[in-house]
Amino acid sequence: MPRFICVTCGTQFPDSVEPPLACPICEDKRQYVPAGGQRWTEMAEIARDHEIGWNEEAEGLFSLKIRPAFAIAQRAFLILHPDGNILWDCVSLIDEATVKRIEGLGGLSSIAISHPHYYSCMAEWSAAFGGVPVHIHEDDAEWVQRDDGAVKFWSGERLPLGAATMIRCGGHFAGASVLSCPWLGDGRGALFSGDTIQVVPDRRHVSFMYSYPNLIPLGAAEIGRIVDAVRPFPFDAIYGAFEGRTIEHGGKAAVERSAARYLKAIGG
Ligand SMILES: [Zn+2]
Ligand SMILES: [Zn+2]
Repeated sequence: MPRFICVTCGTQFPDSVEPPLACPICEDKRQYVPAGGQRWTEMAEIARDHEIGWNEEAEGLFSLKIRPAFAIAQRAFLILHPDGNILWDCVSLIDEATVKRIEGLGGLSSIAISHPHYYSCMAEWSAAFGGVPVHIHEDDAEWVQRDDGAVKFWSGERLPLGAATMIRCGGHFAGASVLSCPWLGDGRGALFSGDTIQVVPDRRHVSFMYSYPNLIPLGAAEIGRIVDAVRPFPFDAIYGAFEGRTIEHGGKAAVERSAARYLKAIGG
């Protein structure tokens, strides 16, 4: 039976004969339904003319992205660590070549996802690696469309994943999280920020929005909470959700500077 995938946001739904009536993630005020109406596809269809492109971002760190671009066009990250590799965020395609290559790099121990826009085909990815857990903050549970028992909802403000830590920031979504990997960058640390702390095109600043496509800003209290949540963690680099959106150095100062600029702009 088909497992339909929303063409706009890339979310996969459970087995159904007919496509879902709507995609709740796209109908939400943070996303949108295209002018022509919602369209649906399946993974086999995507695989026909797309592939997963790999990019070595740093030692022990790869970004994975569907080429040509599909849906929101985010990148996922394969983060290598001797205690177990982590996939940060996810994409709507998985193929044999990708599974083999990841297995050759030590496989996957867990999948951690920042927020509902990148749930994509997480259940499919988990199954491809023997049912590894998919960590999602419980405050976003209502947005999960296909679980298959792989999703482990976590609560509170931090979740240790071996040497990494998932940090709930909120803002973009109630459970919106980032991932701290203090060993990367020769021990200077890296932060994987999804849409929660958005790396902007100048690669010297970040921004914080409730909705990016619909341009709905966040308030001062929420921005303060995001900045406070990541302040205790060391990070020099910030890897945002989109290709090229990486702050290579000075990430910590960039977050503080960007928050101050934003608060000034909104009179906070
Ligand atoms: Zn959708
Ligand atoms: Zn988002």
